Amino acid sequence: MSKPASGTSGTQASDSVLARYEPVIGLEVHCQLKTASKLFCGCSTKFGALPNHHTCPVCLGMPGVLPVLNAQVVDYAVRMALAIGAQVAEVSVFARKQYFYPDLPKGYQITQYDLPYCSGGGVRLSSGKFVNMTRIHIEEDAGKNVHADSASFVDLNRAGIPLIEIVSQPELASPDEAADYLKRLRSLVRALDISDGNLEEGSFRCDANVSIRPIGQKTLGTRCEIKNLNSFRNIEKAIGYEILRQADVLDNGGAIKQQTLQFDAGTGRTSAMRSKEDSHDYRYFPDPDLGPLRISKERVAVIRAALPELPEAMAERFKREHGLNDYDAALLTSDRDLAHYYEKTLKLVGAKVQPKIVANWITSEFLREVNTREWNLAAPPLTAEHLAELLRLIGDETISGKIAKTVFETMVSEGGAPAEIVKAKGLVQVSDTGAIIAVIDKVLDASPKQVADYLGGAEKLIGFFVGAVMKESGGKMNPGLVNKVLKERLEARKK
Ligand code: ADP
Ligand code: MG
Ligand code: ZN
Repeated sequence: MSKPASGTSGTQASDSVLARYEPVIGLEVHCQLKTASKLFCGCSTKFGALPNHHTCPVCLGMPGVLPVLNAQVVDYAVRMALAIGAQVAEVSVFARKQYFYPDLPKGYQITQYDLPYCSGGGVRLSSGKFVNMTRIHIEEDAGKNVHADSASFVDLNRAGIPLIEIVSQPELASPDEAADYLKRLRSLVRALDISDGNLEEGSFRCDANVSIRPIGQKTLGTRCEIKNLNSFRNIEKAIGYEILRQADVLDNGGAIKQQTLQFDAGTGRTSAMRSKEDSHDYRYFPDPDLGPLRISKERVAVIRAALPELPEAMAERFKREHGLNDYDAALLTSDRDLAHYYEKTLKLVGAKVQPKIVANWITSEFLREVNTREWNLAAPPLTAEHLAELLRLIGDETISGKIAKTVFETMVSEGGAPAEIVKAKGLVQVSDTGAIIAVIDKVLDASPKQVADYLGGAEKLIGFFVGAVMKESGGKMNPGLVNKVLKERLEARKK
């Protein structure tokens, strides 16, 4: 395993297990599409409304009502198909999947079964490995059961929200790869602007199918399916744990039972939920209320022509146009909002600041704050305008890069515009040669031994003098000027 899954020991696949067994992982991702209304009715899809306020006879599952397909859902779904290079079927079919659950009052879910709207395609991982897709299909979400102390409730606001289910081939080989695959999918649906990809709010949900097989065996082992993993961290932990659990069963002469598992993030363990249904249990049949879904070649062509720039293409452009390296380009394009932030800042800084400098500040200082303070990348409290202003102050030598870090910290903790912070705290860089000479002479007078050594050939001591001068000036002197003048003043002492 290239990198162990984070978390407590025992939740990661150990090397001794991986020397004997090969993990095989396939992911099913349920991705809510961000249309204004639901898949088969006009109810709002907005998150956070009072329970059962976004409902109507159709999504409540009343008998005798008729579903009407939301055309926007189909357009969004086709966008996704095109982005992963899948084939869009000209004719596909909505089917009823029958099962009983309180959050599904009509007793069946409308989904696509043997004739989904697209097939094939895939996603390239950061390692370069290509993961093939089995299929993507359109389906409706179910409602939500809410469990309280003495009673349970059903909230049907979510019932009928459009989903695409994205099913990968069993080709992922480690928890790492599974997480990377998922991050790529998420960045794709966000770039396509078809989903907000929010794991915590449940608009992007992942089930992981995990099996192991003795190294060298061709046939796949029996899989277990871990349901509803709601963070990248939990996905890695759950899969890592499951690999070890299955190895333990096989090592002790047991057999893996195909079953559905749940993951407890507290204990880091998976446990059985129910035995796995077979598809014939669901009695799928074409929904008689919905005709076949026809997607014309012309409609696909229109959608293709309007596709936005995708993360991979954007990363290539950043490398080509801005001279960024692979790492910066991949990181900055991993999220749509982050890429916009970078491009906006870059546009505002002007020619005196290199794109690489802008990238460095965003990938290090800015992203550190985004992660620790959980900033919303769509509207971070530290705006692109303010970051650009800060970088311009470095570019025109008003402040040094070092002082800029102090100003940045103040911007983060107290807010405010960088120019004002610099003014209020008296941080403007000193570029007045007279003032610089005065400090330099003071430092040189105080260090006669180092001066003699330097003049005797120990030129490395220049760093010592620069450090002393910067310290004496509170870091405010222009470092380029300090270097130049220092050498002159030292040379002058030769005579
Ligand atoms: P279902 O809908 O019943 O879960 P699918 O055939 O749609 O079944 O498969 C779901 C997922 O399980 C796919 O992502 C597939 O890659 C994965 N999968 C299938 N067989 C295995 C296996 N032996 N090991 C790991 N993953 C598997
Ligand atoms: Mg499944
Ligand atoms: Zn409705």
